[in-house]
Amino acid sequence: MYKKRRLSDLPFFETVQEILSHYSRPSTCPAICCKMTDINLDEKDLEILGRASKYKADQIKYCNYDGEYQYKIPPPCPFLETDKCSVYDWRPTMCRMFPFNVCNKPDLLLLFPCDMGTCIFEDYIEYSDKVLRKPPPSETIESFKQSHDSFLMKLSEGLPIPMLAFKIDSLLPFKEYLRLRLE
Ligand code: SF4
Repeated sequence: MYKKRRLSDLPFFETVQEILSHYSRPSTCPAICCKMTDINLDEKDLEILGRASKYKADQIKYCNYDGEYQYKIPPPCPFLETDKCSVYDWRPTMCRMFPFNVCNKPDLLLLFPCDMGTCIFEDYIEYSDKVLRKPPPSETIESFKQSHDSFLMKLSEGLPIPMLAFKIDSLLPFKEYLRLRLE
């Protein structure tokens, strides 16, 4: 029994999964997120990873953040093997969301400016243009491009990475656009 609400219980989780089902990891992806970012886990993620490899799960940390304890995989993730996730089918919920990430504002999600995030944002621009007849502001497009161009350098220097704020309300129609585009 898991006391806390899981990330996968949040209403947008399935929509994000459907959006991500239209993308595959670009060949240019060096699995940087698995090498350089903390992965937050809940108790169920921890249990599943423990079943996959007790030895590697022992490297997971239980840390106090602002008075709240949180399980974390510190980078580089021990489950990464030659730039591939060795527990892909059992990977934690936060990894299943990537390149989306939760935000401290309930109506927003964040989009990481990696190659896959860029593919998603390019499709979102196309959707906004064709369906909404209102593309995102050029400053937003330019700022995401700059974030993409500099995120490897910023990650390696431990600098914050500006992410794109994505309105949760816009996910559902965007998901439908991607689905219909395939038909
Ligand atoms: S569990 Fe897999 S996807 Fe998640 S950080 Fe580790 S290697 Fe990457």
